Amino acid sequence: MEHLIIGNGIAGVCAAEAIRRLDPSAGITMIGDEDTLPYSRPMISMVLEGVLGEERLPVRSAGFYQQMGIKPVLGKRAVAVDIEGRRVEVEGCPPIAFDRLLIASGADPRRLEVEGSGLENIFYMRTKKDVRRMLAALPRARKALVLGGGLVGFKAAYGLLRRGLQVSMLITSDYPLAMQVDREAGGMILEKLVSRGLDVRTAISVEAFNGRGTVSGARLSDGSRLECDLVVVGKGVRPALSFLPAGVEKDLGVMVDQHLETSIKGIFAAGDAAECVDLARQKRWVNAIWPEAAAQGRIAGMNMAGRKVTYPGSLSRNVMRIFDLDVMTIGMVNPDPEDRNVQVLRHHDPVRGTYRKFVLRDDVLSGAMLINNIQQGGLFLSLIQNRTRLPLDPQKLLEPGFNPGRLRP
Ligand SMILES: Cc1cc2nc3c(=O)[nH]c(=O)nc-3n(C[C@H](O)[C@H](O)[C@H](O)COP(=O)(O)OP(=O)(O)OC[C@H]3O[C@@H](n4cnc5c(N)ncnc54)[C@H](O)[C@@H]3O)c2cc1C
Repeated sequence: MEHLIIGNGIAGVCAAEAIRRLDPSAGITMIGDEDTLPYSRPMISMVLEGVLGEERLPVRSAGFYQQMGIKPVLGKRAVAVDIEGRRVEVEGCPPIAFDRLLIASGADPRRLEVEGSGLENIFYMRTKKDVRRMLAALPRARKALVLGGGLVGFKAAYGLLRRGLQVSMLITSDYPLAMQVDREAGGMILEKLVSRGLDVRTAISVEAFNGRGTVSGARLSDGSRLECDLVVVGKGVRPALSFLPAGVEKDLGVMVDQHLETSIKGIFAAGDAAECVDLARQKRWVNAIWPEAAAQGRIAGMNMAGRKVTYPGSLSRNVMRIFDLDVMTIGMVNPDPEDRNVQVLRHHDPVRGTYRKFVLRDDVLSGAMLINNIQQGGLFLSLIQNRTRLPLDPQKLLEPGFNPGRLRP
């Protein structure tokens, strides 16, 4: 059996390992356009910040491919999939045949299409190489502009602030991390960022950049101008699927079933490229996060090797430390206010600096957000993942001294 994996990220790696565990003699080939060992993408911002060396990023050792009996085809791009002929065309190589294919190509940053967006020193922070290029520009940079208040924009702004740059952040919504937190928590985060010197401007965007070769300023949607010599664009991602043939069903990402198989038998997808069912929302969704990419890779790999394993669905979650603010979000934290089956419980304690929010849908916990005092987060994660009905009055979850032991049946 010949297995071919497009993508050398965590989803691809976990799939390859799962296949090898179940089938010691299978052929496994991995194509990756980054010519490097698999590495921790969430941690590249720590290299920017200067608290981690690039050599600490790899998540597998130098002998990984050899020990696993994987044929790596690195620094090469898959450009087309021939479904009928069961082979993948790769730039600069002969086509590679497969019996089972995994699409684990991750995501690409959404590009900014405004005047001047091709100037030097305008970066997208997705890869190690992007961070290397940003680091090379740092010595001559004084004023940074970060576009987008999502995870990537936020991490870039934090890293640049810690490097001593003046940083302005433009957010189209009213508060940062709008996909991860609600307005109240967003306000707490905003206050923290501003108190530490970040210039945050909400409900505003860039209309054009100017500069001679290298960016030197931006024109904003309110008509004002902002001086900047380094820009990071963090406007979200979209699945990297330029090679995907028309026969494979796709919505936001490649659509997969509960075994992570696509609409074409023998072709699977996992990670940021795949669209699965979201456990909390109970609808199709792309949760582009590391732990889900790893889990999906593992389960796709097992199914590719012939063991039928069901993927229960994905769940968004994140833990962040924003200066001295601990933030944990799980599942659906911004439910549709029109949804009559949803119950929202909240408690903000300004003295303790804590905020707790729980979202129940049809009496099942579907979302949790904790600001400070996040120790019980793991427990809420498992309740949401397992769709457990709460054995107590949900209001009790808001009590500061809530004892999780009370959740045991
Ligand atoms: C700055 C940053 C911070 C993040 N922080 C967090 C965080 O705090 N928590 C969290 O859970 N997640 C975080 N993420 C998201 C997380 O990194 C991703 O969800 C995860 O890496 C997805 O893994 P993957 O294997 O699906 O895709 P990827 O890691 O994107 O790997 C896919 C690989 O396939 C390659 N590829 C793409 N197209 C082709 C092609 N045609 N041919 C060959 N190779 C190809 C890509 O170059 C890439 O190397 C962050 C991401 C970034 C960029």
